[in-house]
Amino acid sequence: MIRLESVTKRYPDGTIAVNSLDLTAPSGQITVFVGPSGCGKTTSLRMINRMIEPTSGRIWLDDRDAASVKPAELRRGIGYVIQHAGLFPHRTVLDNVATVPLLLGQDKKKARARAQELLERVGLDPAFAKRYPAQLSGGQQQRVGVARALAADPPVMLMDEPFSAVDPVVREQLQNEFLRLQGELGKTIVFVTHDIDEAIKLGDKVAVLRVGGTLAQFASPAELLSQPADAFVAGFVGRDRGYRALGFARSGVLPLSDEQAVALGSSIRAARDVAVDGWALVVDGGRRPQGWLAVDGGDRDAALGDITPDLLNLGGTLAGVGGTLREALDAALSSPSGRGVVVDDDGSFAGTVTAAEVLARIEERSAQTRREAVETAGARYAELQRADSGAPVEVGKHAGGGAHAASAAQSADPAT
Ligand code: ADP
Ligand code: MG
Repeated sequence: MIRLESVTKRYPDGTIAVNSLDLTAPSGQITVFVGPSGCGKTTSLRMINRMIEPTSGRIWLDDRDAASVKPAELRRGIGYVIQHAGLFPHRTVLDNVATVPLLLGQDKKKARARAQELLERVGLDPAFAKRYPAQLSGGQQQRVGVARALAADPPVMLMDEPFSAVDPVVREQLQNEFLRLQGELGKTIVFVTHDIDEAIKLGDKVAVLRVGGTLAQFASPAELLSQPADAFVAGFVGRDRGYRALGFARSGVLPLSDEQAVALGSSIRAARDVAVDGWALVVDGGRRPQGWLAVDGGDRDAALGDITPDLLNLGGTLAGVGGTLREALDAALSSPSGRGVVVDDDGSFAGTVTAAEVLARIEERSAQTRREAVETAGARYAELQRADSGAPVEVGKHAGGGAHAASAAQSADPAT
């Protein structure tokens, strides 16, 4: 069990990233922290293994106060997986996985044998063991990241958007593998995501956070869907499956902002000129998005050198102009700037869109579908009446037609 007791984190610049968070992540289960970018998910997670120290409050791992355990000792029992896997680029896949057991003093042969076994366990072909991370796809790298975190067999796993940077098809495979693995291992897991569908699929318990680091609701997925605590949660989870299913509709013409981007290698001064709310999008020579640059006008910009890849925040998925509304929403919610990046078919930057704009579009679609359903049902009913008026009335037929029309309207009505 991991218990957070009135945990608050205020960064030196005054930002309150996490505000008096209270919750218990049960042992042997998956607890998901979900919310838009910047709501304090990563900060909350990193306070559990003391990579970040809380400003106030306490964190308990079973009956141990985390503050009383040496960070190195604490982390021995806590696996940690991050978004871009964080693998050592110059070590083979096998050596990446064996790193922690070796550090813990296991002998080389044993550590490697165990690493090999873990690779298979996370669904990776043993042939990949000798490769280097750059020779793997994003999804394969994430599997290695999970294998590495499991290598020391820690009872607790912290996972920070481990599947967010891979495409939806691979993401789903990884989620399924992850659930299968957890079924065997029964670890105590805290899993961070911006994707409500992922939260609902994976979480035994889900904590919905809002910007400012406050807890909006902590509940089981079913409760979250059926009894959202407030309008924020309702909006975030979608009113029901039907409403959320609408997100799979093609986005059509989204109101894209004509945000300006800046090229990798140009000056930070240039990024400052195009930045909105402190964030500038950086693209490569082919105008393909590379990441976001935070320009704060303070120390970090002081040198005003050139924009290099290591300065970029890679977080955030991309949405295609012809993609789905869900994809667009995902891009907006995962973007550190709050603006989702939309690309043309050739991968070049087309513009940005906010979550509010995508949600408005989903609402619009929802209202439209509802109107159409009522009209269709009305027309069908009128048709049945016309048919009936020309012939002796069959009671069953009439009533059946009416009931059919009503249920059609209802099942297509996403707001019920
Ligand atoms: P999330 O993981 O949900 O995107 P984070 O925990 O990374 O959110 O950040 C929460 C808030 O704290 C954001 O407003 C972010 O800008 C801010 N923040 C994160 N790290 C720092 C830091 N080192 N100094 C100041 N503010 C920070
Ligand atoms: Mg984060």
